[in-house]
Formats: sequence, C-alpha cells, structure tokens
Amino acid sequence: MILVLRCPKCGNKMKYATSGSLEGKRKRCVYCGKSFAVRGRIVK
Ligand SMILES: [Zn+2]
Repeated sequence: MILVLRCPKCGNKMKYATSGSLEGKRKRCVYCGKSFAVRGRIVK
C-alpha cells in the first residue's frame, strides 16, 4: 500500500510504502528531517 503523507513542519508531501498497521509508525521527512507520526498525516 502506498500512502501520501504531508509533513507537519515544511508541508511537503512524500510517498510512504507500508504494509499492515500504521499504529505507532513514524516517518522522517525527506525534505527537512522532521520525524512525525504517520497516523494523522495521511493525505490519501
Ligand atoms: Zn518536512
């Protein structure tokens, strides 16, 4: 499953490939380096 996430700091969108639950998963922004929870940042 490929999701699109939006960084809460810089606002850039990035793709995120995942399988299974998103519970507790974190992603580091490829643009600014901010780490944020995947859940709640899903654009689509
Ligand atoms: Zn960012």
